[in-house]
Amino acid sequence: MGPIGHCSVGLAAKPLTPKVPLGVLLLATWLLDILAIGFGFAGIEGGGSAGLPWSHGLFMSVIWSVLAALLATRIYRTHRAGVVVGLLVFSHWVLDFVSHPIPFSSFSWRSWQWSYGHPLPSDLPLFFRGSPKVGLGLYNSISAVEATVLEIGMFTLGGAVYAAYVFKKRKAARSHPA
Ligand SMILES: [Zn+2]
Repeated sequence: MGPIGHCSVGLAAKPLTPKVPLGVLLLATWLLDILAIGFGFAGIEGGGSAGLPWSHGLFMSVIWSVLAALLATRIYRTHRAGVVVGLLVFSHWVLDFVSHPIPFSSFSWRSWQWSYGHPLPSDLPLFFRGSPKVGLGLYNSISAVEATVLEIGMFTLGGAVYAAYVFKKRKAARSHPA
């Protein structure tokens, strides 16, 4: 799934944990992709058929989620912040599990199309190199335009939840000035 779809979950989670800045919630939803970019540069993963076990393997995704949860609990001094941030990190894996494998190698930015519906190998490892790979392949059964509409729809829903939260908070601040 793309960054727009992932971050909608972070927008929707803001009312659950008002203490944590929105930017941190959004970063949490992108963490596995940020790690993938970092590990790619460092030559730790990427390339070859191993997939992305260190950033996107199920096992390591659980580890990153737990680490993020512990860190957020420490910084914001509430278990709620930790639980929400940890779940946001893990939401990335769940959404990627639904959408992968993505026929991105055939994607054209000019025509906004990819070639879908062909058999593609699953690319999300459960553990490390050589372990089974999974993925429901939603984005391999719809067009790039449909996937984009889906992500914009998710973003609109998440944005609506966030906007309603901000509106309510402003209204409360106006009726009870500090
Ligand atoms: Zn990802």
